[in-house]
Amino acid sequence: MKRGVCILGASGSVGESTLKILRLFPEEFRLRSFSVHSNLEKAKEIAKEFQPAYLCVSSDSVDKAILGNKIGATEVLYGTEALSEIVADAETETVVTAVVGASGIRPTVAAIHAGKKIGIANKETLVSCGPYIQSLLEKSNAYLVPVDSEHNALFQLLENTKKESLERIILTASGGPFRKLPISDLPKVTIEQALKHPTWNMGPKITVDSAGMINKGLEVIEAHFLFGFSYDQIGVVIHPQSVAHGIVETKDGASFVYASYPDMIFPVAHSLYYPKIVPKSLKPHPATSWGNLEFLEPELERYPGLSLAYEAGRAGGTAPSIFNAANEIAVELFLKGKILFTEIPSVIRTALDKIPYSVPKDLEGYEEADRKAREAALSFSKDKVVHLC
Ligand code: NDP
Ligand code: MG
Repeated sequence: MKRGVCILGASGSVGESTLKILRLFPEEFRLRSFSVHSNLEKAKEIAKEFQPAYLCVSSDSVDKAILGNKIGATEVLYGTEALSEIVADAETETVVTAVVGASGIRPTVAAIHAGKKIGIANKETLVSCGPYIQSLLEKSNAYLVPVDSEHNALFQLLENTKKESLERIILTASGGPFRKLPISDLPKVTIEQALKHPTWNMGPKITVDSAGMINKGLEVIEAHFLFGFSYDQIGVVIHPQSVAHGIVETKDGASFVYASYPDMIFPVAHSLYYPKIVPKSLKPHPATSWGNLEFLEPELERYPGLSLAYEAGRAGGTAPSIFNAANEIAVELFLKGKILFTEIPSVIRTALDKIPYSVPKDLEGYEEADRKAREAALSFSKDKVVHLC
């Protein structure tokens, strides 16, 4: 029987990579359900092509009359609560969480309660309430297969490495479009420049996150909760060619490296097939085509958000939730032209300093920290006018 897949955020970049894999392997998978937030055109196209049972439109502000209650055989549901309903559907084997931001938390929790395999792209969920998600997973048959490329690489490497030999894990990072820009010019970078990633084609929020290596900071915290390594055992190296995605260092001083073409179809296909293996080549990238590979230490002065992420991760409790929520607001403010690129880490710093950390027992505690951090971050830009040339 074909394996049922639910894609949360099918209209986005990871969503599109997931649909590509479903097109490549129609004998193995079928789209059972999907969500968009407000992109109704895309929703219509996907429903017509894949004819799943359910579509959820999560935004409250769309005109429901445009899609109505059915597109062909696809039932249309509305609102964020419907996200948690479609993930629990009995004919769904794998839920791919490809929505952006903290909107991924509640449906991920619902997928865990329903005992699903979760292809987790939405890193903000683990960053925001990692300890809570871990506690739910301990009591459930559900499990996570990382879709974030570095974590998927590490997941595969760690499955094949003896536990007692492990020393450290390393996440690679492209360094973003401003890797070589004089640091004094960083305050002047424009939205368009920040949205031009050198190696990956991704949604706007993660692209801005990557430009300042805040994405790597989020990924360090994500790796901590996925793999259980301490923050001292999680390193970051700049690797501008994005061929190597994850590195596992062993006690004897050796390193195992996962390399592939930089395309999200690799981690998506692996997570969908898991525990089976992907049966055919997706995009060969032999060593002879890698060219010169560089591996460099990140300059912390250039990427202050990376150090802040380590600080928040080490502080634990709600500190990563505050880091994540403040960053979400800061990126929104930057994309609206209300703050400078270099003020993104300042907004996070303000929220981390303003809000006391706690160790909540329930999801509401983490959500409360998230809400307070958003308020603190928003107050940073009040009445501020920025003119970028
Ligand atoms: P995109 O911006 O391309 O897509 C976001 C998706 O989420 C869209 O389907 C969008 O719907 C939906 N969405 C937007 N806002 C909301 C909301 N408030 N509630 C529910 N759904 C919403 O993002 P990406 O695909 O780039 O990233 C998705 C996630 O995957 C992020 O967490 C990111 O960090 C992670 N990730 C992405 C990678 C990549 O290569 N892009 C790599 C590794 C991880 P609509 O189109 O209708 O607005
Ligand atoms: Mg990544």
